[in-house]
Amino acid sequence: MRITDPSSLVFGALLAVIVGGAVGFIAAQALGLLAGVGVGGVLGTAVALSHLRGPLRRWRTARRALAPARRRWLERHILLYAALEEENARRRFERDVQFFLREHTFEGIDGVAVDDELRLAVAAGAALMLHGRPSWELRGAGRSVLFYPGAFDDDYHAGDYAAFDGMAHQQGPVLLSARAVRESWSVPGDGQNVVLHELAHLFDFQNEGADGVPSLMAPASEGAWRDLVRRETRRIQRGDSMLRSYAASAPSEFFAVAVEAFFERPAEMQRRHAALYDALKNFFNLDLASLGGKRETEREKKGSSSETPFQDRELRDAVRETGGDLTQPPGA
Ligand SMILES: [Zn+2]
Repeated sequence: MRITDPSSLVFGALLAVIVGGAVGFIAAQALGLLAGVGVGGVLGTAVALSHLRGPLRRWRTARRALAPARRRWLERHILLYAALEEENARRRFERDVQFFLREHTFEGIDGVAVDDELRLAVAAGAALMLHGRPSWELRGAGRSVLFYPGAFDDDYHAGDYAAFDGMAHQQGPVLLSARAVRESWSVPGDGQNVVLHELAHLFDFQNEGADGVPSLMAPASEGAWRDLVRRETRRIQRGDSMLRSYAASAPSEFFAVAVEAFFERPAEMQRRHAALYDALKNFFNLDLASLGGKRETEREKKGSSSETPFQDRELRDAVRETGGDLTQPPGA
């Protein structure tokens, strides 16, 4: 994320000149030269300032240091952040977290107390996904994040049929289960992360709905990506994939599930799905496999002596396969 987009600044300046000039000209004809210059000047300045408000807010936000407690949380939970050696790169990651926190509202539903960890867990996901592409924004995103206590159904209620850990709406709020958000980062390397999953849908929303081809993908790559999705979907159906079967339910879900696996288990993806790994590496401009390898190996060693994570994963798979989430507003 950048403090300002130069093309937007140029557009704002041009608009200010055109609007101020046109209205000033009309006012000068009717009221005289001095009035025309005054009216045009005030209007042009107002238009220019309205375009500068966003960049100014970001500039002020960027000048504040990230709180030490937030830095410690990032160190513990975000492998990429912990591995960043350059101060500038670290600062840029922190700045993206701050922009996301500043520009979104976070609300707890049904008694959820929204604490800093919940907010940070979502903002860190956005910063992680955008880190390799400093000029990108989550443009498909609305500005609010709602936290439900646990899973919810398509009427947004908890209950026997609650199957959604998350839901993303185009230009609307992102809905997340607070429990699933906390699990997303506390069980690193399990390949499941509801924050990354729902934010991935936002990348997809940026063209005509969610079709599994992220809008920021280079048009020349789209055909190859669709072929890759078809091949990988067949592997899932054959039981020969590290991606959970929910990914085969729709191309948009394939992208979201693949993104989770790419960020959570990059070394395994590189080993077992080299073409998919390369496609996502190029898309996000991040080569995570060397970072992830050590942690994934540790996880595999730990996992072999414990039944619980496997059972949890099976349970969560079952929940997701009954619906998992929606990528369109209900009824749309
Ligand atoms: Zn999904």
